[in-house]
Amino acid sequence: MSRQISFVIPAFNEEESIETLHGEIASVCQKNDYEFEVIFVDDGSSDSTWDKLKGLSEAHAGTRAIRFRRNFGKAAALRAGTQEAKFPLVATLDADLQDDPSEVPRLVEELDKGFDVISGWKKVRNDPLGKTLPSKVFNALVSHLTGVRLQDHNCGFKLYRREVFDEVKLYGERHRFVPVLAAAKGFRISQVPVNHRARQFGKSKYGWRRLPKGFLDLLTVSFLTGFNQRPQHVLGFAGLVSFFAGFTGMVWMAIYWLLRMVFFADWEPLHRRPVVLYSLGGLLLGSQLLCMGFLAELIVAQNAERKEPYSISERSK
Ligand code: UDP
Ligand code: MG
Repeated sequence: MSRQISFVIPAFNEEESIETLHGEIASVCQKNDYEFEVIFVDDGSSDSTWDKLKGLSEAHAGTRAIRFRRNFGKAAALRAGTQEAKFPLVATLDADLQDDPSEVPRLVEELDKGFDVISGWKKVRNDPLGKTLPSKVFNALVSHLTGVRLQDHNCGFKLYRREVFDEVKLYGERHRFVPVLAAAKGFRISQVPVNHRARQFGKSKYGWRRLPKGFLDLLTVSFLTGFNQRPQHVLGFAGLVSFFAGFTGMVWMAIYWLLRMVFFADWEPLHRRPVVLYSLGGLLLGSQLLCMGFLAELIVAQNAERKEPYSISERSK
């Protein structure tokens, strides 16, 4: 039986590329005898992207397009598109022709080794240095913090088993973390180096702002995947450390004050001692963190009762 693949392509002002991209996808699928569909998501383009997509949908039976009312971002576009996918394998590609569809068979081959997500790895990357360097740092950070070791987490070119998207719900800018989120559910992840082409038309939709945003998202995602069910383990741990540091300082000051009074009859006013201030800070911070931890636990408790904290891969008859 031939393989069935749904292609999901988010497009935001990519009028010059999508027709060529569609042609490349169709040709690689014909060559490899894949049954395929192409789902484009127009993420609020203001150029002629939508007209081009309508044209492609009319001309090709397996091609359709969704149009967002405004720009909602790549994660939202991927979510909408993957939700529509009807084939067991889902490939996502950027619309700007930087990803090369002729690499799809290699991703399929890797998936067949028993994986659920194959991430493209732009090993030789045709992007400016201002992008490749921060990306190196980002990938090292994500790999280290989450334990999901990939060279190129944010590569738009990926192949999935469709059920991954039953579990991983994208929103915000979480598209950078699909492998991490999928791995947290127990899906098996691998990567394959892919050919990467320079952007020929239009311009990149992301500037330097992706750096702080990506870093904040990384903190959230590693917290959510690591401590989703037990926030107090993080917040509370920091809280306890801070509280006990403060407590120890206060005890030390109390002993010191007593000893001075007993042996030297000296009533030194303690507010002049910096240790008192630090200790007070420690006590306050510690109890605040613990309280926040309890609030977070309260939210988790409410949700956990409504939603199963696990993911099932198969069932016997
Ligand atoms: N994109 C999108 N919505 C956005 C921003 C980007 O659908 O708000 C699409 C864009 O059209 C492209 C892909 O996401 O298909 C990756 O964007 P881009 O090529 O600008 O990112 P870069 O390659 O510079 O990281
Ligand atoms: Mg690009």
